[in-house]
Amino acid sequence: MASWEENVRKAVPYTPGEQPKIANIIKLNTNENPYPPSPAVLKALRGTDVEYLRRYPDPKSFDLTEAFARLNGISPDRVFAGVGSDDVLAMSFLTFFNSDRPVLFPDITYSFYDVWADLFRIPYRTVPLDENFRIVKEDYYGENGGIVIANPNAPTGIAMKQSDLRDIIDRNRDVVVIVDEAYIDFGGESLLGLTAEYENLLVVQTLSKSRALAGMRIGFAAGSEKLIRYLNDVKYSFNSYTMNDSAIRAGAAALDDREYFEYTRGRIIATRERSKKEMEKLGFIVTDSRSNFLFVRHKEAAARDIFHALRQAGIIVRYFDKPRIDNYLRITVGTDEQMDTLFAFLASWLKKEKA
Ligand code: PMP
Repeated sequence: MASWEENVRKAVPYTPGEQPKIANIIKLNTNENPYPPSPAVLKALRGTDVEYLRRYPDPKSFDLTEAFARLNGISPDRVFAGVGSDDVLAMSFLTFFNSDRPVLFPDITYSFYDVWADLFRIPYRTVPLDENFRIVKEDYYGENGGIVIANPNAPTGIAMKQSDLRDIIDRNRDVVVIVDEAYIDFGGESLLGLTAEYENLLVVQTLSKSRALAGMRIGFAAGSEKLIRYLNDVKYSFNSYTMNDSAIRAGAAALDDREYFEYTRGRIIATRERSKKEMEKLGFIVTDSRSNFLFVRHKEAAARDIFHALRQAGIIVRYFDKPRIDNYLRITVGTDEQMDTLFAFLASWLKKEKA
């Protein structure tokens, strides 16, 4: 190692799901929405004129935070916007987890949490989920430097009861509790309403999944005015202009189109419930997912083999080579047609494997 390299901040990066450049694949690996964003988004983008590119965007992203605030019936002073919820979460880790005590999160959860903790040198301890992949609330009662819980959790899709999450927050009034609600619109109970009650609760959401805007990179945090002020202080110490003008317009338009949102999320939920049954018929064990993905294990076939066979057939799903979940697959809920192609392929492949 060259001597200058000793001074480099070393990081083990998060591995995102691949975005293959192959035509005609069925892409069920990154929990994207199978439907396009609201038509209102395209309309808003068409209105962009070059004057907006010449100027810096609004550092407060007011139109965007205001649209989110309006939708949720809270004051814009209680909303923070970032470049996807990844940016919001990273900023939140940097801002709120500044103690010598370990931050707690489940052993099986969004695999970016430990990456940020390592990058920012935040001490942390992972708390095992129980044998049914459920979060045990009592495990979060001890002393800690903060808590992060994804609800519904990823990659299991399992949601926690609001009363259990409230209990965790009640017993941790001296630290910041972050609840990552990336998948909340597909079936969980949001804690956004509780942010008025708990000054230390930060709820993080995204437009990437239920609003079909993963490519725009828009995420939010909602919390007390105090939390949002602290978060903004760190953001403005880092980069004032995180949200570009197109993202501000597109995001506000997507949030305002409630009808389209209800329609597409309803379709995804219906396809998910049908897919659970189809997968069970094919011999899979399926978790009670409240998200836009399924988390499955086959009773006989190995997840890794199924993953490779699907890939060969042009169907891409997510496989995590990690302890406890290395025999599972995470499959994004696509259109009914995409899912039918998946079931047909699995039926014939499993039959051949058995023969
Ligand atoms: N939280 C969870 C649990 C996720 O699965 C994802 C998607 N990878 C994110 C946050 C980040 O999503 P985005 O940055 O697109 O908002």
